Amino acid sequence: MELDSLYQEVILDHYRTPLNKKLLPTFSKQVHHVNPSCGDEIDLNLVIEDGKVQSLGWDGVGCSISQASTSIMSDLVIGKTVDEALLTLESFTKLMQSKGTEKGDENILEDAVALAGVSKFPARIKCALLGWMAFKDAVMQTVNESN
Ligand code: ZN
Repeated sequence: MELDSLYQEVILDHYRTPLNKKLLPTFSKQVHHVNPSCGDEIDLNLVIEDGKVQSLGWDGVGCSISQASTSIMSDLVIGKTVDEALLTLESFTKLMQSKGTEKGDENILEDAVALAGVSKFPARIKCALLGWMAFKDAVMQTVNESN
């Protein structure tokens, strides 16, 4: 798999120095997601209060794409309202479904545009989406409980 070298650097930085890679001691919801095709595993927990992602922590093992993507996601959603965070997730999901035809909106996705090239490799898309899907699951479970 070849990615633009600058983008590769962003991914490796997040892989080597992941952001928020520590589960929170107290949380509203915790989930465990796996990507069996690659062996990636993510535990993620978060605190949602007043419609906002107040904090989020995660831990995991797996390939650099899965770990870097989760790190980037955590940095993007913390502090956002649930609605904003879900729009960011939607934008990233679209990028991953673009088969390499889209570059991604840097204003919304920031470092996550570095993963745009992954969309050309169907086998790796699940790696890139793992943390994001774990986040979505935790948010949906929290939102459903409060309704
Ligand atoms: Zn993977």
